[in-house]
Formats: sequence, C-alpha cells, structure tokens
Amino acid sequence: MIELRSVAMSYGGTELLSDMTLKLMAGSFHFLTGPSGAGKTTFLKLCYAELMPSGGQLNLFGQDVRDLGRDDIAMLRRRVGVVHQDCQFLDHLPLLENVALPLSVAGRAVDPQELKDLLGWVGLAGQARALPPQLSGGERQRAALARAVILSPDILLADEPTGNLDWEMSLRLLTLLVELNRMGKTVVIATHDLNLIRAAKAQVPARVLRIQNRRLHLAGADL
Ligand code: ADP
Ligand code: ADP
Repeated sequence: MIELRSVAMSYGGTELLSDMTLKLMAGSFHFLTGPSGAGKTTFLKLCYAELMPSGGQLNLFGQDVRDLGRDDIAMLRRRVGVVHQDCQFLDHLPLLENVALPLSVAGRAVDPQELKDLLGWVGLAGQARALPPQLSGGERQRAALARAVILSPDILLADEPTGNLDWEMSLRLLTLLVELNRMGKTVVIATHDLNLIRAAKAQVPARVLRIQNRRLHLAGADL
C-alpha cells in the first residue's frame, strides 16, 4: 500500500526525516509515535501526497508519487482517508453536510441512507443538523472519522485523533478504528498516547513505528 525506500524530507534545506525504509502492507495497523516536532504529521502528509519527499522513493498503491499528475493525486486522495489533527470542518455547515463534503468534491451523489448509517456508526445520528462548533471534542473527532471514510478509502491516516479526548472517548474512537481495520483497511495513527497503543494491541496485531533522530524505527514488543 505504502512503500518507502530511503525516503528523506527536508524543509528549506533542513532535513527533518532521513533514510526511511518501510512497507505498510494492506490491512495492517500501525501507530506512529515520537517526540513533538519529530515529523509525525510530515510523515502522514507524505503518505497522502500532500508533500513530496525530498529524497528516496515513495510508492503509494504501487505508483511512484513523483510520477503522479494532478488527476492521479485526486484519485489517490479518494483511496486515502485522513483525520486531521484539527478536524478542519466548515463551521457554517451542518455536520451532515461536512461529512458528505468529500462526496460532492468527488462528484458522487449523496445516498441519504448511507449517510445516515455512517452517522449512526459513529454515534452522531442525533447531531446531523448541529454546527461543528456546537459539538464536543469527541463528537468532532468521530465526525472527522466519518468524513474520512465516506469514500470507502483503502487507507485511513489519523493525526493525534485522541489528542483532546478523555479516556472513555479515546476508547470509543479506537473501537471504530479497530472496526475499520477488521474490515480490511490499512490504518496508521500518529499518537503520543501509550495507553491507547496498549489498548489497541489487546484487540489487533498493531505495530509501533517511532520517529527518533530523523529515522523511522520499528518499536519493540515492550510497549
Ligand atoms: P510532529 O507531528 O511530530 O509534531 P511535524 O511533522 O508537525 O512534527 O513537524 C516537524 C517539524 O517540521 C517541526 O519543527 C515543524 O515546525 C517543521 N515543519 C512542519 N511543517 C513545516 C513547513 N511547511 N515548513 C517548515 N517547517 C515545517
Ligand atoms: P501539527 O500541529 O499537526 O503538528 P504543525 O503545527 O507542525 O502541525 O503544522 C501546522 C501547519 O503549519 C502545517 O500545514 C505545517 O506544514 C505548517 N508549518 C508548521 N511549521 C512550520 C514552519 N516552521 N514553517 C512553515 N510552516 C509550518
């Protein structure tokens, strides 16, 4: 699904990530950890071709990202769902319309029943008409997850999805992520939350990647 060969990433001549080699197989579940500023968000941005690597080779779905044109990237974005750290809602649009937004962007018709089912799955059936600022942090994260999966992506990337949530809400979100993985989706979650990782490992064979000193490491089983 995602394959890196000696990938490097620099901002303005400063190398943030170096020599990262990794294969993320279809259906795998990975956490991405590392100190704040280590490059977790940057790594995720590489994985949905928001950023291009400054060195090495990055293949997404078997295609070198450097060979992708604008249309290819638009197609690729439909196969990679992203839950951004700040959710990125349009605050003047009701939740339902925010969640459905990727459909209209992709030129696909909205199936009201499908949308209703999706909101029900994340436990927000009753909040369809609410505006994003009226939702709690946990509700916003679950809404962002619904929006990220509405185009049935193969890969789901989530950036600190439980960053502002209490433990109960974190577990609720984790349950949804595990369900997606059990449906065959490849899941990558950037997080600082070791308890979340432990809870996930009790449910799925999750692996832990760590960015440290610009390199990507596969963490041991001691977490
Ligand atoms: P993390 O998600 O692990 O906290 P980030 O990937 O967000 O790390 O950022 C890593 C470092 O790269 C930070 O020091 C950040 O300021 C820097 N950085 C991120 N995006 C840019 C950018 N567009 N231009 C320059 N520096 C950036
Ligand atoms: P996060 O909070 O997800 O770790 P950041 O704070 O690193 O994200 O980045 C937020 C936005 O600002 C991103 O689009 C990133 O590319 C940009 N950014 C971060 N640091 C810098 C920087 N030093 N210079 C320019 N842009 C940056």
